[in-house]
Amino acid sequence: MQTQCPCGTGLSYPDCCEPIISGKKVAETAEQLMRSRYTAFTFANADYLMRSHSVKTRPIKERKSIEKWAKSMTWMGLSILQTEAGGPEDEIGYVEFKALYLENGKPQQIHEKSRFERENHLWVYVSGEHF
Ligand SMILES: [Zn+2]
Repeated sequence: MQTQCPCGTGLSYPDCCEPIISGKKVAETAEQLMRSRYTAFTFANADYLMRSHSVKTRPIKERKSIEKWAKSMTWMGLSILQTEAGGPEDEIGYVEFKALYLENGKPQQIHEKSRFERENHLWVYVSGEHF
């Protein structure tokens, strides 16, 4: 039996975000990159979170605190609400999502519309607007 990927596609982790996070495969769409970043949050994989973040906005100084924060949460799931562009032929894409987690046992959510761009042909996270 294989563990389902934390991002909620229903696929197993090795068939979903694992190859993207490990660098065996590139994310073809902004949504795939978004999903892999959510999964990396659930594993507190700060290396991948930095690598998949645009160099223009990469929060290198916050690396440790992001890792600590991600580790202290219980990640409950991701829902993709809407996507705009971000396909294999696009240079820019937007993904609106909700990520649910427990902080000290209390349910919390992030509702964000994230902007993704291609950097050296690869999708990266640029910034997000919170709701
Ligand atoms: Zn996944």
